[in-house]
Amino acid sequence: LPCLSRTGQTQGDAMPREFGDVDGVAVGTVFASRADLAAAGVHKPIQAGISGAASEGSDSIVVSGGYEDDEDYGDLIVYTGHGGNDPATRRQVADQEWVRGNRALARNCDEGLPVRVVRGAHGGSPYAPPSGYRYDGLYRVDSYWTARGHSGFQICRFRLVRDTDPVPELLGASDEAGQPVLRVPTTVQRIARNSDVAQRVKDLYDHACQACGTQLRTPAGPYAEAAHIRPLGRPHDGPDEMQNVLCLCPNHHVLIDAGSFSLHDDLTIISHDPNLTGRLRITEPHRLGEQYLAYHRSIHGYEGAGSL
Ligand SMILES: [Zn+2]
Repeated sequence: LPCLSRTGQTQGDAMPREFGDVDGVAVGTVFASRADLAAAGVHKPIQAGISGAASEGSDSIVVSGGYEDDEDYGDLIVYTGHGGNDPATRRQVADQEWVRGNRALARNCDEGLPVRVVRGAHGGSPYAPPSGYRYDGLYRVDSYWTARGHSGFQICRFRLVRDTDPVPELLGASDEAGQPVLRVPTTVQRIARNSDVAQRVKDLYDHACQACGTQLRTPAGPYAEAAHIRPLGRPHDGPDEMQNVLCLCPNHHVLIDAGSFSLHDDLTIISHDPNLTGRLRITEPHRLGEQYLAYHRSIHGYEGAGSL
């Protein structure tokens, strides 16, 4: 095999991986080189196109026209994973696999983690900068799948959707000095905070559903969902803390959010549906807030059914 680019390997630095915008770097900022991009903390690997690890997700990617199957529509990018690519011809010469950076990006999708997108100058996209590397903001990985590329080899594909506003430069937005307008990344910080609590609860249960024990597996690894007992946001304003979070499979997440079942303080299931019975598993040191269980019962018509 020829030397492969977009290796997906990260540098071996011990700094924690940071998701979301980088402080002080406005969307639209252009960097002259990969070294400058790395020094600013926007995309740390000097060569790899995907920064990330399979177990953590990907914090940033560079889209630079190195893959013939990439499609760039601005706010939507259909991105090709790494591997099997001849950097000289930009053609696929081997199958890609769900490993390393590809698994990292798949994890972003499963966990709702944002990825920083940098576009490098190249002739293949009207959205690429004329020179250097431009930070184009945060995208979410909407879905991922396997496909046949133009060359006939298997490729890993990702649908990346811009997380918030369009790229300011695409709108021509700039301040009086001609600098791109800086966005306040409130949405992403909320997602990142949720993901941290969610991740801790999921890890505690090894991604097995507390209600039924199901442990789903995807190409990115085990999959579970974090369910808030007292819901987040208005009007419930439940907290994002472990005492208010369960590790559930998607089915039980839907059912508890809909109030198809609720929980006694001892975690036995209360339901009008005779098929929904049993008791949730709980693992030390996880403790659930009885006030949140009571709140869930109250908003779903199980009031007065607290401790048995
Ligand atoms: Zn379940």
